[in-house]
Amino acid sequence: MLSCKNLKASIEGKKILKGASLEVNPGELHVLMGPNGSGKSTLAQVIAGHPSYKIESGELRFEISKINKLTPDKRAKLGIFLAFQHPVEIPGVSMFNVLRKARHSTNGKIKSASLFRNSVANFRSDLIGYAKELKLGEEFIRRSLNEGFSGGEKKRSEILQMMALEPKLVILDEIDSGLDVDGLKIVATAVKKYTRSNPQSSVLLITHYARILKYLKPDFVHIMMDGKIIKSGKANLAKQIEEKGYQKMGREVQYYDRV
Ligand code: ADP
Ligand code: MG
Repeated sequence: MLSCKNLKASIEGKKILKGASLEVNPGELHVLMGPNGSGKSTLAQVIAGHPSYKIESGELRFEISKINKLTPDKRAKLGIFLAFQHPVEIPGVSMFNVLRKARHSTNGKIKSASLFRNSVANFRSDLIGYAKELKLGEEFIRRSLNEGFSGGEKKRSEILQMMALEPKLVILDEIDSGLDVDGLKIVATAVKKYTRSNPQSSVLLITHYARILKYLKPDFVHIMMDGKIIKSGKANLAKQIEEKGYQKMGREVQYYDRV
């Protein structure tokens, strides 16, 4: 579904991604871990098509298309969704209106089975249902997007957007940071439910902590350091990272490289 091959990317002339490669197949849950500043959010933004990031070389494919040069809206229409690490506040634009427009422009392309739920009233009641699942009040969908939301509410609002748009590829950038234990459980449960009811959709979960993996079982775990994915493995890799820390994992990889 998603293929990143030897991606090199920069922002404001500063090289951040230095040859990142990653393959995600339909229905898989991948976890991306790594120290602060290693380039995890940059990779997420590059996949979503943030215009400030420049791909210097390498290939980015989604399903059958090469998407290196596609604008973010076109990537969203293909079914790529990014939940931001730091969601922006957009005063004056309600959550409902944003999602209705976004849903309208992606509808049918992402998931034709949902076409029958196309009416505004049904969409509104769907959103209210999602808000309830996330323990957010009904008024959330009428409020300005993220304006005045607490840290935890912003994260849940990102998940609500995922539920409403039904993307094929869900990228969650530190969805667990700023959430308390209850919030973490609510968000993780919603993601798990989403993957169950959309078995062809894939998740790329960026996190610092193995704690969310109590609820979500990854198929693959990757470690990013200095703009590259230096190690990939199964779920137990996340446990090793917690025990050893990134620096030690990094040294091990250098050791293997030398052999
Ligand atoms: P991570 O998500 O792994 O913590 P990021 O991708 O956010 O890492 O950042 C990687 C590096 O890119 C950091 O050194 C950061 O300072 C730098 N960086 C990120 N965004 C910008 C920007 N807008 N301008 C300049 N440097 C940036
Ligand atoms: Mg980040």
